[in-house]
Amino acid sequence: MTRTVRAARGGTLAARSWQTEAALRMLHNNLDPEVAERPEDLVVYGGTGRAARDWASFDAITRCLTTLDEDETLLVQSGKPVGVFRTHEWAPRVLLANSNLVGEWATWPEFRRLEALGLTMYGQMTAGSWIYIGTQGILQGTYETFAAVAEKRFGGSLAGTLTVTAGLGGMGGAQPLAVTMNGGVALVVECDPRRARRRVETRYLDELADDLDDAVARVTAARGERRALSVGLIGNAAEVLPELLRRGVEVDVVTDQTSAHDPLAYLPIGVDLDDWPDYAAAKPDEFTDRARDSMAEHVDAMVGFLDAGAEVFDYGNSLRGEAKLGGCARAFDFPGFVPAYIRPLFCEGKGPFRWAALSGDPADIAATDRAILELFGENETLARWIRLAGERVAFQGLPSRICWLGYGERHLAGLRFNEMVASGELNAPVVIGRDHLDSGSVASPYRETEGMADGSDAIADWPLLNALVNTASGASWVSIHHGGGVGMGRSIHAGQVCVADGTELAARKIERVLTNDPGMGVIRHVDAGYDRAREVAAERDVRIPMREE
Ligand code: NAD
Repeated sequence: MTRTVRAARGGTLAARSWQTEAALRMLHNNLDPEVAERPEDLVVYGGTGRAARDWASFDAITRCLTTLDEDETLLVQSGKPVGVFRTHEWAPRVLLANSNLVGEWATWPEFRRLEALGLTMYGQMTAGSWIYIGTQGILQGTYETFAAVAEKRFGGSLAGTLTVTAGLGGMGGAQPLAVTMNGGVALVVECDPRRARRRVETRYLDELADDLDDAVARVTAARGERRALSVGLIGNAAEVLPELLRRGVEVDVVTDQTSAHDPLAYLPIGVDLDDWPDYAAAKPDEFTDRARDSMAEHVDAMVGFLDAGAEVFDYGNSLRGEAKLGGCARAFDFPGFVPAYIRPLFCEGKGPFRWAALSGDPADIAATDRAILELFGENETLARWIRLAGERVAFQGLPSRICWLGYGERHLAGLRFNEMVASGELNAPVVIGRDHLDSGSVASPYRETEGMADGSDAIADWPLLNALVNTASGASWVSIHHGGGVGMGRSIHAGQVCVADGTELAARKIERVLTNDPGMGVIRHVDAGYDRAREVAAERDVRIPMREE
C-alpha cells in the first residue's frame, strides 16, 4: 500500500509542544511527495538519503514525538528510534546519529552489507535530520557560488560576462538561473534534450539554441549588451568546449556539473544518447575508459580557457580526478569551488541559514523576507537573492526560505522571527536550521575542507564539537552524520534545528545556538590559520584561548 505523508499545517498541535510538533512536521515534510525524491521508500534526496529507516520506525518516531514531554529526549540511531530519556527543558528534544561507521569499516560495501541487515540507513545531510527544503537550497548555493565568483573577479556582478558550463540535471539545472540572477550570460551544454527542455519549462533556463553557431551568436550579443540570459545547447561538453576554444569565443567563467563523479553517468564522445544505458551496463570497463578519455579532452579545453585568462573551477563533481585518470596531466591546474570562493565566506561563519513556516502559509515567509531585508538590506547579494527568490522560487512542501548569513547575523534573524511569532505577525512558529555544508560543521577533504591552509582537511573533531556545542546551547534537535554528499568514508558532518515558538525561553536558546553554531566556523578557520577568520574573531569578539594573553 502506498502511503502519502504531508506535514500538518496551521495552529492545532498533534504533539504536546511546538518544539516536538516542529520535529514531527519537518519529518513529515521531508517525505511530502512535493519534497521527496522517492517518498514510498522514505528517500528524500541524493539517491538514497532517507528520513527514517523504514515505515515501522517512521510510525514509532511519529508516536514518540506526539507524546514526548518538554523534559524528555528521543534518541534516533540511523533512522530508528531507540530510546527516550529524561533530560531537561534546555536539552534537544531529539538527538540523531546517522550512517556513522568506525573508520576502517567506513566503506560502501560494508555499509551496504549492514544496511541489508536492517542495521543502518544513509542519512545524507538534511534527509535524516529533517530539514530538507527541496531544490531552493541547491539554487541558493549555486547563486552564492556565482556571486562569490563575481565578487572575486568581476566587481560584484556577472553583468557583461559569459559563463560556459555543462549539465542540466538535478543539481546542474540550477546553474543557468543562478548565473542570470547574478546578472550574467550562461551557455550550458547538455547532451539530453529532455533534460534541457524540462529546464526551459520550469524557467530555470531562458532558451534553447538551434546549434552551436546560433548559441554563440545569442550569448555573444547578450554579453555585449550586458543583458542577463541563459542559453542551452544540445551537445557533448567534451566536443563543444574544445570547439569554443578553437573558435576563440570570449569566455569569462568555466565550470561543469555533468555527473563526472560516476564515469558511467558521463556520456563519452561518439556514443549515441539512446545506446548509453545499455552500453554502460553491458561493458562498464570499456565505457569507463571512453568516458575518462572524453573527460580528459573536456578538461584540456577548460585548462585552455584558464590559460586564456578565464576563471575556471571544479564544481564538486570529481571531473578533475576522472580526467586525470583519462590522461589529462594538467587536470588539477584549476581549483575546487570551496577553496576558490566559499572559504572566505566560511571564515566569517557564513553559510546556508534556512527556515520553514510551520503554519504552511506563504504569507509568513513573505513577512520573514521583509524582516531579512530590513535587517541586512545593505548586503546587495543577499537582498537581490531574497527579492528574486520571492518572485521565482516555487515552494515545495512547507513554505521555506534560505539565505547565507554569518557570525553575528544569524541570531539577529532568529530573534526577530521569534518576536514575530510572539506578536502574532506570523501565523505559527518557524523552524530555523541549516545544511550540514556549513562553515564549522563538516569535515570533507574532497569538498568543504579541501586544501585547508594547515593541512587539517580530514580532522573530524570539528563537526563533533559543533554538535556538542549546539546540544549544550539549546538547539531543538541535533544530528551527527557520515558520508553525506561525497560518500562513505569521505565526510563527517553535523546539523542543528531551533524552533522559534515565540517564548522567552526560545529566544534565549536561539540567541546562543545561532551565535555559537556559526562561531564554530570562525574558530575552525582561525585554527587553520586564515587571516580573514582572525579579523572576524577580533572584530566580533569571538574568544580564542590560544590567542589570549
Ligand atoms: P545529474 O545526473 O542529475 O545530471 C547530470 C547531467 O549531465 C545529465 O543531465 C546528463 O545528461 C549530463 N551529461 C552527462 N554527460 C554529459 C556530456 N558529456 N556532455 C553534456 N552533458 C552531459 O547530476 P546532478 O544532480 O545535476 O549533479 C551533477 C554533479 O554535481 C554530480 O557529479 C554531483 O555529484 C555533483 N555535485 C556537486 C555538489 C556541489 O556541492 N557542488 C553537490 C552535489 C553533487
